[in-house]
Amino acid sequence: MHPMPTARAKTQPTRMCVTCRSRLPKTELLRVVRTAPGEAVFVRQGKRFGRTAYLCPALSCIEQARRKHLVERSLNCDIGEQIWAELAAAGRADQG
Ligand SMILES: [Zn+2]
Repeated sequence: MHPMPTARAKTQPTRMCVTCRSRLPKTELLRVVRTAPGEAVFVRQGKRFGRTAYLCPALSCIEQARRKHLVERSLNCDIGEQIWAELAAAGRADQG
């Protein structure tokens, strides 16, 4: 292990989008958390404990994840219409 250069900006924790696999700061990603077997919720911020799938806020990533069932595969859990609607509402068209 080498010491980190002191000039480097403080790094934020990052997570990978399930669709495009870009690494982004956790705070910029949308999350779907499996809260119980067979039950998942959309979480924008705050603490939720459980298996989590992260998505870019880009609508293209959300749509592709939906078509390819990437969130379901990541969480091993069905994702309801309501969650996709919430993700789409939280997403942005100007990215990705
Ligand atoms: Zn993405």
